[in-house]
Amino acid sequence: MIYDVLIIGAGPGGIFSAYELTKLAPELKILVLEAGHPLPRRRCPIDGVKVKGCIGCSPCSIMNGFGGAGAFSDGKYNITNEFGGTLHELIGKERALDLMRYVDTINVSHGGQDTKLYTTANSHLKKECLRYGLHLLDASVRHLGTDINYVVLENLYNELSQRVEFRFDTPVSRVEKLDGGYRVTAGTEQFEAKRCIISAGRSGSKWMQSVCEDMKIDTHSNRVDIGVRVELPWEVFSHLTDELYESKIVYRTEKYGDLVRTFCMNPRGAVVHENTNGIVTVNGHSYEDPALQTENTNFALLVAKHFSEPFKDSNGYGESIARLSNMLGGGVIVQRFGDLIQGRRSNAARIRDCFTTPTLSATPGDLSLVIPKRILDGIIEMLYALDKIAPGTATMDTLLYGVEVKFYNMEVALDEHLQTCHEGLFVIGDCSGITHSLSHASASGIHVARYIAEQ
Ligand SMILES: Cc1cc2nc3c(=O)[nH]c(=O)nc-3n(C[C@H](O)[C@H](O)[C@H](O)COP(=O)(O)OP(=O)(O)OC[C@H]3O[C@@H](n4cnc5c(N)ncnc54)[C@H](O)[C@@H]3O)c2cc1C
Repeated sequence: MIYDVLIIGAGPGGIFSAYELTKLAPELKILVLEAGHPLPRRRCPIDGVKVKGCIGCSPCSIMNGFGGAGAFSDGKYNITNEFGGTLHELIGKERALDLMRYVDTINVSHGGQDTKLYTTANSHLKKECLRYGLHLLDASVRHLGTDINYVVLENLYNELSQRVEFRFDTPVSRVEKLDGGYRVTAGTEQFEAKRCIISAGRSGSKWMQSVCEDMKIDTHSNRVDIGVRVELPWEVFSHLTDELYESKIVYRTEKYGDLVRTFCMNPRGAVVHENTNGIVTVNGHSYEDPALQTENTNFALLVAKHFSEPFKDSNGYGESIARLSNMLGGGVIVQRFGDLIQGRRSNAARIRDCFTTPTLSATPGDLSLVIPKRILDGIIEMLYALDKIAPGTATMDTLLYGVEVKFYNMEVALDEHLQTCHEGLFVIGDCSGITHSLSHASASGIHVARYIAEQ
């Protein structure tokens, strides 16, 4: 065996497992195989001038490369079991929280020391929300911001690369079980190790599914979240974002009893494209540096869809809706809330007249032609509910970008060590289906590293 541990994917899951292994078992030979580029070579060509929309680079520099999908994210590390994944169901609530706190100390000691940790504890906003059927979830959140997140990743890479071997632009195509280990194929090369940690993220979801099929690892269907990204003047939500930074609020619609929730709030941030396997959806981020901040705050409003028999392909359903918006808008569609309520499309003139200046160049259109009625009704209902705690939310000039889709991987059958039915083969992070966030993915990496080091 040439290596002791192979790690597939250098997103937060892979990075933090490598980090912890180097601390606890420095004698181990570790190889990280990553489909994307090293951090300095990750450049999305969209500049808003020459390249206005996604041109489908392969690999996509937003999703792939050192830092994974999190590299240019807002760097919000939520320390909570209430959202961001179900890691606690496998490893226990206290342990999950401890791991997330530990990840926070690593981020702080690698460049995040001047960033703020926000918390909902004792917030009067909880009571205010409850008055209108809005439920504010408990969490602490470290906001690194896109800029500091990058610094932390740079520092982690500089430290890790002293002890860990990295191979970039090396997509793994196959994982095989050997006697007492694993063989991994990438292009014409093959690598072998006693243990293999797969951390391929959301962008590796289809590939992960094929690995599970090949290796007879059980999976079960998961959910998909569909919705829009809302953008409005930052002042509207400033009383929430100043105190909490990110508020995760859940609302049950009166019409259907569906749950709608806020997701990924970016005060003074920007709306961005996200490309998952060629499908362009919308996301958002913000910078810690005031010079890079905008006049707007954005957040997603999402509705979760679960399917049972006979239809199981939740991601396929989400993809179809996203494809429809890509077909009609050539990418992401933007619509003023007022136009949506009046039953008309937004056009270029209406967006030009809008008091809220869009931070993303998207095609003005009509989201009601794309998003299923039930989901759209829920989003509209929640916007009116949010208007009660943040007046100015449900106005003509609030912008809605669509569609925002959160794809979840099939949930992989894992034990409490995040080990598959094959001894020594671990699946962590978002590709396991049990994490959907930076903090949970990172925590899962630490958890597996500790188990391997113990052994
Ligand atoms: C724009 C954006 C903003 C976000 N903002 C936040 C936020 O503020 N807070 C939050 O908690 N979450 C956020 N997220 C989600 C967060 O980034 C992910 O939950 C997290 O990165 C998951 O980590 P991971 O290691 O599991 O996977 P990833 O970060 O997706 O990393 C997986 C890596 O594996 C590589 N890979 C895939 N397949 C292969 C293969 N076959 N061979 C080799 N390598 C492979 C990929 O190239 C990728 O680099 C955001 C996501 C996006 C896209």
